[in-house]
Amino acid sequence: MVPNVPKGCVIGVDLGGTKLLAGAVDADLRVHHRALRSSRGSDTAEVIGIIEGAIREAIEAVDGEAIAVGVGIPSTIDQARGVSVYSTHLPLAGVPVAALLSERLDLPVFVDNDANLALLVEHRAGAAKGARNALMLTLGTGIGGGIVIENQLYRGSQGAAAELGHIVVEQDGPPCQGNCPNRGCLEVMASGSALVREATALAGLRPRSALGRALSDGTGITGPLVTDLAHEGDEAAREVLDLIGRRLGVGLSSLVNVFNPDVIVIGGGVLAAGELVLTPAREVMVARGLPPARDFARVLAARFGEESGMLGAALLARDGVDARTSRSARP
Ligand SMILES: [Zn+2]
Repeated sequence: MVPNVPKGCVIGVDLGGTKLLAGAVDADLRVHHRALRSSRGSDTAEVIGIIEGAIREAIEAVDGEAIAVGVGIPSTIDQARGVSVYSTHLPLAGVPVAALLSERLDLPVFVDNDANLALLVEHRAGAAKGARNALMLTLGTGIGGGIVIENQLYRGSQGAAAELGHIVVEQDGPPCQGNCPNRGCLEVMASGSALVREATALAGLRPRSALGRALSDGTGITGPLVTDLAHEGDEAAREVLDLIGRRLGVGLSSLVNVFNPDVIVIGGGVLAAGELVLTPAREVMVARGLPPARDFARVLAARFGEESGMLGAALLARDGVDARTSRSARP
């Protein structure tokens, strides 16, 4: 028996390229249970099974008191049909995720792009609250993007818009990640994966730095390790984060020129580095963008940190249920 189980929770799921977070969330965005999984599945059935298992854990944790499910997926989405159209990192191309999960769980299921959902909650209640125009970039395994124009999420003609991680910042850069056919995208230059790659390369060149010792003693270079070493003052680790921040800033300079946003929210795992990434990003954005947009846009950390995707998915579910209720209440 769970004490004080709230009535009417929704389940928000953030399906990342490597991990999945499901949460039971009440109407005030309080999280009553979190279920964390690796999202690495070899095929569609395995990935859908992982999502279903995490959702069931969250539902059981609130005594079955869940009214709907929202799922954020790192894919382009046909939002009306709840189909994952194209996925850079997961075996979900063409999969009707909403219908599959709804049938198994016997609950309404709503699906959208993961970074769109992160921006949905940041715009409603977080770092972009009150902004008329806002962008979001989530720096994790890849780089997700979201766009709010005139207070509405912008999805494009086919729901494929806002892939802000796939703007090119280096024409002859390395091949992009996953299934993207491009080179030198912001994603391959400034994501968490890029951070690990650059840190590993620099560790080899600086064997006496803390970063270099982590490589030679077999600790294994990860994003959180680089961030920890940087916070402890290791110059090599700081250099890597500065490089990632500057590359991000190159991307932001193009984005402020195109969108002239009030706010750009930065989220995802790389955000643990905080100002070590955001300060160089702002400097480069202001140095390379056009006035007045470059000086107007505020670049802010996501208020909900790594949980913005999960909380945004919960909001999607609650909005979806509310819309259905008001439709059916109409005479
Ligand atoms: Zn790309």
